[in-house]
Amino acid sequence: MKITLAHGSGGMATAELIDKVFAERFSNPALDMTEDCAVVDGSKKIAVTTDSFVVTPLEYKGGDIGRLCICGTVNDLLMRGAFPKYITCGFIIEEGMDTEQLERIASSAADTAKEAGVAIIAGDTKVIEGKGGLYINTAGVGFVPENVNISAALCRPGDAVVLSGNLGDHHAAILSHRMGIENDIESDNAPLVGMVSAMLDAGLDIHAMRDVTRGGLGTVLNELASASNCGFEIYEDSIPVSSGTASFAAILGLDTMHMGNEGRLVAVLPKEQAERACSIMRGCKYGENAAIIGTACEKSGVSTRIGGRRNVSALMGEGLPRIC
Ligand code: MG
Repeated sequence: MKITLAHGSGGMATAELIDKVFAERFSNPALDMTEDCAVVDGSKKIAVTTDSFVVTPLEYKGGDIGRLCICGTVNDLLMRGAFPKYITCGFIIEEGMDTEQLERIASSAADTAKEAGVAIIAGDTKVIEGKGGLYINTAGVGFVPENVNISAALCRPGDAVVLSGNLGDHHAAILSHRMGIENDIESDNAPLVGMVSAMLDAGLDIHAMRDVTRGGLGTVLNELASASNCGFEIYEDSIPVSSGTASFAAILGLDTMHMGNEGRLVAVLPKEQAERACSIMRGCKYGENAAIIGTACEKSGVSTRIGGRRNVSALMGEGLPRIC
């Protein structure tokens, strides 16, 4: 069945669509009440984020826009040490979309929310003219534990930088699909709840964390540098990159420092704790290739050392649009 504008009318067709695609998959007590808003329990310190997902293709090797919208939202909460609790999803559907595809994407979002331990407590569907595309807007709410304070501004010279895994896989998977290039590269899109909980449970004094998304590691490090007035020196040959993504990037002349992920983070913490952080990440799902990749320094800017030294700027211009 194809989605038509009638499915966005707010009438019977809309109710049928919600019943068929979303109600059962996203079911939880707050959502099931189908009130105008969800009323839920709170916490002293809450973290709130919002994001919109416009990725094309909607389904790609290793994931889809449903998994991506949950991962992107919960990971942003986690980067401040907040545990994701609630999420909202607004689906903006273009007419002509296959209902079966929408159901696969809804199932994937529901499975990923379950994996991440968040409840989808509110949602919306709209149908617009178009060619079968889909956009998802989310809001995420997380609870910050009492003594946790993680912020980009808290990086200190001498801190170590630990990266949780291979750079660039999500970017390479999306670009491969769009260019029709056959390879085995899968997106790394993943919720990092287990990894962040393990690090906080171990009592690590994490100063700052960022997920490595659009703009890549180069952009993230520049953002951390300007927020904290530190610089970063990166050991380029210690950065983990899979052989598939490395050769894909080499063929196309892409810099892996500017390629996006959707399931990788960098943590900045006292250097005495770096080895421990790295081994905790390696013990977690999605962290098996974690590595210590550099240090924060007094000198401003971001540079890498591999034989010589090169300065790494934030990504300029477009890069690859619509990877998230
Ligand atoms: Mg982020």
